[in-house]
Amino acid sequence: MPFGLVRFGVAPDHAEVKNVIHSFSKTAENPNFRFMGNVTLGKDVTLDELRKCYDIVLLSYGADIDAKLNIPGEDKKNVISAREFVGWYNGLPRLENLSPDLSGDSVVLFGQGNVAIDVARILLSSIDELRKTDITEHSLDVLSRSKVKKIYLVGRRGPLQAAFSIKEFREMLKLPKVDTIWRVGDFTGVQEIEKLQRPRKRITELMVKSLNEGKSVEGNKNFLPVFYRSPKSINGSSQVESVDCHVTKLVNDKAVMTDKIETIPAQLVCRSIGYQSICVDDAINFDDKRGMVKNVNGRVLKKNSDESDPGLYVAGWLATGPSGVILTTMNNAFGVAQTIINDIQSGAVKCDSIRPELDLKHHRIVSWSDWSRIDNREVESGKKFN
Ligand code: NAP
Repeated sequence: MPFGLVRFGVAPDHAEVKNVIHSFSKTAENPNFRFMGNVTLGKDVTLDELRKCYDIVLLSYGADIDAKLNIPGEDKKNVISAREFVGWYNGLPRLENLSPDLSGDSVVLFGQGNVAIDVARILLSSIDELRKTDITEHSLDVLSRSKVKKIYLVGRRGPLQAAFSIKEFREMLKLPKVDTIWRVGDFTGVQEIEKLQRPRKRITELMVKSLNEGKSVEGNKNFLPVFYRSPKSINGSSQVESVDCHVTKLVNDKAVMTDKIETIPAQLVCRSIGYQSICVDDAINFDDKRGMVKNVNGRVLKKNSDESDPGLYVAGWLATGPSGVILTTMNNAFGVAQTIINDIQSGAVKCDSIRPELDLKHHRIVSWSDWSRIDNREVESGKKFN
């Protein structure tokens, strides 16, 4: 299916971000473009087969799995990943039946990035607001029965290291019938805010303003950022009952665990500590440690060498690691496209050879017109919900 992250990763209440789909569709309709969907690299076709058929191959299959906490209790039923939760509310077919258990009142979210904020916002938003978005019906149904009242957003470092950005954080502060409740002690070392660099300065000012307002209305749901806590274990018998966290302190910007432990009650735990790319084909020069394809400015390196492999490129999170907003990834893609053009113009890569056509005769390829039929059908059936 086309559009990857835009369709299955961007939150349903961020409809304006999804508008980029129109630009992608325009490109796809260019007669020089051929879309071949339902083809899995490493399964239906190998990288070597692709390279025999095309002068240039660009790898851009993103980051498909999530980083694990690797703590006791992580395999319990009510421990889910943000990746799964996001895929579920966005209609990723294989996650339709995830049905997270929202029968308890407290959720612990490990990680303080924008993905964690997206998950918290969807869990705390009113069902009537969510109904206006393109969230899936199956998630609306489960969310409408949610008993969740408190979300702890747990980070191992301090307010100055929080990974979420100001726009997403502001949205949290503006959520109707939700109070953000801080721990005053977490801000002890936060001084001289005016000396901070620009984006960090603005977000810290906003946090401190919200802390000083200390708004808490009886009956409202609570968003509870918790700093200096590193996940230790997830407790309970068959159900999740609480999490244990090491209290941490900052040493050279790193979280160092102390002997102190805090227990936070929770009936659902969601890990949101980053995504990871995987190596889907043995021919790919993959850096297992960093979870990305070895490359310099998008040119893939030959195995065990510092030399680039002519004609093989990589872009997006598979090239850079799983960080950056869509604009960052777009700029990376524009840069790699320019590198490819430069390499063709300089003769470093030849694009004039006669090559065999890719043989996928025995495989059911989904063409752009096939996809358009599926999409039109979905849009038509969606109209009855308007
Ligand atoms: P992220 O921004 O890298 O945040 C990961 C969080 O997990 C950090 O708070 C990190 O803390 C924490 N973490 C990592 N390993 C941990 C561990 N072992 N134990 C405890 N905490 C741990 O990742 P993300 O939220 O998955 O987002 C990925 C990228 O997508 C980001 O660039 C994000 O801005 C972007 N994105 C943007 C939007 C948007 O624009 N609306 C929405 C979603 C995602 P440390 O800092 O201490 O490592």
